Amino acid sequence: MNLGNWQLDSINGGTFSIDGGVAFGIVPRTLWGKIMPPDENNRVRLGANCVLARDGRHTLLIDAGYGSKYTALDRGFYELEKGNPVVDGLASLGVNPDDIDTVVLSHLHWDHAGGATQYNAQRTLVPTFPRARYVIGRIEWEDATSQVPELKTAYPMQNLTPLSDAGVVVLVEGNSEIVPGLRAMITGGHTRGHLALKFESGGQAALFIGDVCATSMHLHRMWNLSYDTYPLVTRRIKPRLLGEVADERAWVIWPHDVRTVAARLERHPQRGFEVVDRQSWL
Ligand SMILES: [Zn+2]
Repeated sequence: MNLGNWQLDSINGGTFSIDGGVAFGIVPRTLWGKIMPPDENNRVRLGANCVLARDGRHTLLIDAGYGSKYTALDRGFYELEKGNPVVDGLASLGVNPDDIDTVVLSHLHWDHAGGATQYNAQRTLVPTFPRARYVIGRIEWEDATSQVPELKTAYPMQNLTPLSDAGVVVLVEGNSEIVPGLRAMITGGHTRGHLALKFESGGQAALFIGDVCATSMHLHRMWNLSYDTYPLVTRRIKPRLLGEVADERAWVIWPHDVRTVAARLERHPQRGFEVVDRQSWL
């Protein structure tokens, strides 16, 4: 997709299966099962969609997928793809890990940050993108590295320590420009420090909304991931962000939708929002 000066490309950061109840929170299976039928283990298939963004000056990656550092047990449980999917996805577009100058992580859960680090040939954990700075929201980094019992399992340190050890972490405050034409906006909700990323160029806009709205099936205020740490904030902020996207005729880019990676939205009197201009891939 071309958006003014930006060329945006979808990168598969790895598809995976999770329990449908985790994917749709308080929504009963009788409702979500109709639009996303689960497998025999009640699991639904999600993507870990990343975005490669190039404007001739910068080569950025938004989110890094889940990566390669998993046990056989985890691999089976989530039905993970082999290798480091984001690296393979970039290679299919002729982009090497060395080419990436900035990695922006919407938040630090495994399915967004796991691919940012990997084992090298000496079995040492290192940043996957050796020349990149890693832009992370300050609050997210603080919560993730706090390792308090109530958050600890969501933030394995093997995804974080290799970045801080390498000195490549750049922490940003809530709302800040990452490069001209790309802005981070703090949303909270899914996690306290969760960021959405907004591309703007040539009078056009696209919002990588992150896990505040995981897929095109999560437009309803109450349809949210059960991983949300602040569900009430998600319920408040999501309709506001989707409303801005609809009113601006901007694109929304979903992090976990395997069929519709991006779309435009229109306001709908009963359903809140309606998806138009579906794009299966950027
Ligand atoms: Zn996620």
